[in-house]
This record gives sequence, C-alpha cells and structure tokens, in this order.
Amino acid sequence: MEYLRVSEAQRIVLESVALLNAELAGLEQSLGRVLAEDIRANRDLPPYDVSAMDGYAVRSADLVQVPVTLEVIEDIKAGDMPGKIVQPGQCARIMTGAPVPQGADAVMRVEDTQEISANLIQVITTIKDGHDVRPQGENMRNGDVVLSTGTEITPGVIGILATVKITQMQVYRRPRVAILSTGNELEAINAPVDMNKIPDSNTYALMAQVQALGITPALLGIARDDPLELEHYLKLGLEYDVLLVSGGTSVGVHDYVRPTVEKLGVAMKFWRVAMKPGHPLAFGVLHAAGEEARQSDAFVFGLPGNPVSSMVCFEEFVAPALRRMMGHPRLFRRTVSARLAHPLKMRPGRTEFVRVQLTQDDTGYVASSTGTQSSGVLLSMARADGLLVMSADSTGLAAGAQVTVQLMDGTAYQHEMNIRE
Ligand code: AMP
Ligand code: MG
Repeated sequence: MEYLRVSEAQRIVLESVALLNAELAGLEQSLGRVLAEDIRANRDLPPYDVSAMDGYAVRSADLVQVPVTLEVIEDIKAGDMPGKIVQPGQCARIMTGAPVPQGADAVMRVEDTQEISANLIQVITTIKDGHDVRPQGENMRNGDVVLSTGTEITPGVIGILATVKITQMQVYRRPRVAILSTGNELEAINAPVDMNKIPDSNTYALMAQVQALGITPALLGIARDDPLELEHYLKLGLEYDVLLVSGGTSVGVHDYVRPTVEKLGVAMKFWRVAMKPGHPLAFGVLHAAGEEARQSDAFVFGLPGNPVSSMVCFEEFVAPALRRMMGHPRLFRRTVSARLAHPLKMRPGRTEFVRVQLTQDDTGYVASSTGTQSSGVLLSMARADGLLVMSADSTGLAAGAQVTVQLMDGTAYQHEMNIRE
C-alpha cells in the first residue's frame, strides 16, 4: 500500500464518520456542545423602544434651536411604564433600559443638560431623531431564528439561549471513546517503578486530548503483545463509537493490532500516512449490521506508540473526526502565520509537524522549535504552543521564513486545514 498524503488520509477518515444522533441537554450542561435544532426568538427584544442612556426623553423637533428650556413631566425608571405623553416643550426623566414615552423620539444625556429647577431643565445641544434610543427588536425579533443548527454553544450562545428562555435543547450526542495502550514493555501508572519498563503515558495524554474536546473517555488499560489478550481488549474497545489503540500498529512481528482488528471484522481503510511524526497510523471501520448502520459503526485508530506521534496523529485525524461526529462545523485547529526564528532542516517526502513555541514581536508571531524533534521525546510536545507544518517537498527553511503553525491551545477551530503539505 502507498503512503497516503495527510489530506487524503484525513478525507477518508472524515468521509467515514457520521454525525451522531441528537439528544436533549440542559442549559447548564450545554457549554461546548453543538445545537441540533434552530432556536427562535420568543418575543421582540427590546420589547419597545428603550433608552440607551440615563437622561431625558425629548422631542428632537423641540431642539432645533438651542438653548431651550423643557418641562420635566415624569420620571421613568427601568421596569416602569411611562404614564404620560410628551408634548411640545416637555420631556421625561428616563433611566437606561426604560421605555421611551410616546411623543418623545430621542434621549438627551444628563451630561448635556442643566437642571434649572425640580421640573425644568435647559438643553444646550441639538439632537437627531432616534439618538440614544435602542429601537424595539434591535436584539432580536419575535420568530426570527437567532441560533441555527450547527452552532457551537459558547458562553455568548448560552446567554442567547437564556434570553429566549430555553432551558433544554437538542444537541448532537458525544461519541463514546475508549483508549487502549499496547506493549509488553509498558508499565501501568500505578505499578511500581521497574527500570526495564516504559511508563504508559499515551493512555493519559490521549485521555486529556479527548477530554479537551468535552468527551470523557473510557481507559481500557494496557494489553500485552499477545494475540489473544489483544483480541479480548480490542473486542471490548469495539463496543465504543471510537477506539484509540496506541502501539503495535507497525509491521514488526509482534505488532498484532492490525491483524487482530481485521479478524474482528474491522475493514482497514489505510495504515500508512506520509507524515512525520505519525507513521504508522492505521484507520478502520467496523460496520454495524442493520437499520441504524452508520450510527452504530465503530471506528478504530491504530496510533503509533511513540508518545509524540500518537499525540500528533490525534490532533490531525482523531480530533477532526470526533468534532465532526459531534456536529462541529469547524474541524481543524486554527492556523496562524509566523516567522521562523532559526533555520530548519528537513528530508523531503513526508509532511512534517514540528513542535514550536510562539512568541510575538511587532511583525507578528515568531516560531521556534521546542528542542529535539525525536518522536520519543514528549517534552517537545509538552512545551509546544503549536505544530509548524512543513510541506513534503520542502528540503528545509531559512531563518525568517514565513511558516504556518497550527495552534494547539485554546478552543479556536477553523473550517479548512489551510496547510501546504
Ligand atoms: P510501537 O508503535 O508499539 O512499536 O511503539 C513505539 C515506541 O513507543 C516504543 O518505544 C514504545 O515503547 C513506545 N510506546 C508504545 N506505547 C506507549 C505508551 N502507551 N506510552 C509510552 N510509550 C509508548
Ligand atoms: Mg509496541
């Protein structure tokens, strides 16, 4: 089998996974989820023209020639309804958010008036019709779709949902994700330290990557490089929507993951991607029989055992797939343009993801390598703000070169991957 390009492998993954069903979520538990229904406004907001300032509701026609003295006929606080109509030569004292009384068409700020007596003010500036009035329906109009299907629920969206009194809404279900580590050399986190073993970090780094997407994964533990033990664990894992297996996906004689998942009915879609770190990466689908087929398909990612490779493959393939299943319209990490702080060498042939730190100067972002880029050195990942993407045909970059960096922190995502591989 050929080595697939990153974008090709990604296309296969994203075409295989399907949007999951919707379920009901309470407002207080909905942050980070994606709306599976349109939300409409249940009234005009504001419900009538209201004042944007503390001041006086006036008739702009009275103020064509200033200064002018106006009679204050009432006091309208937020929550009050006006009792009187403002006639020529009159005004009403009004607070921010209170309804503008009939007759008045603008609000004059307190600062632009002078109090002459308890019920007389002098106005020194002219004003236009509508000034400092927030018109009825400025925020939303009754019946309008204010949030549409596919909207990611951010704090601002929560505010809108509360505004239209939605306490529960349809959101896309989250995939159930299982994580399995494989390898005889691995030492569980709670096992005593054995100098001949390798601590299992992949289980937890992957756990955190999954959690960062709002999903709580099941940790299946460590399977030995033994076909029967592996089969037992993989069977368990295939009960989930998505199974992440790290290690054992290569072509070594003890790399049993691929043959074993195939034995369990998984159709392998690919197992070689032209990227560094990342190779070998395998992806397969266990098709469910029956009606709801696509909803109950299980997806297996065979991630490389090297800790950095496993995390990078998660970023490039697993995260976009999980986000698609949850209904997110934007699947890819936001990219920024940066200047390279130092030269970077590269052997062409594979798209390279270089762990970098970002700083800023007055030209914008500056990217510098986090140190050794060996795929076994997890500190290069722990220190990284992002992944600098070097295209497969590049032989290297000079200091000062303009580069593309995928941001790994934060929750900002974009529609397209926007990299040159
Ligand atoms: P493999 O893909 O199984 O050949 O593993 C490649 C390298 O990754 C080996 O050096 C493994 O020891 C290491 N490795 C595999 N799984 C893990 C894990 N869960 N945590 C940390 N290192 C691992
Ligand atoms: Mg192994």
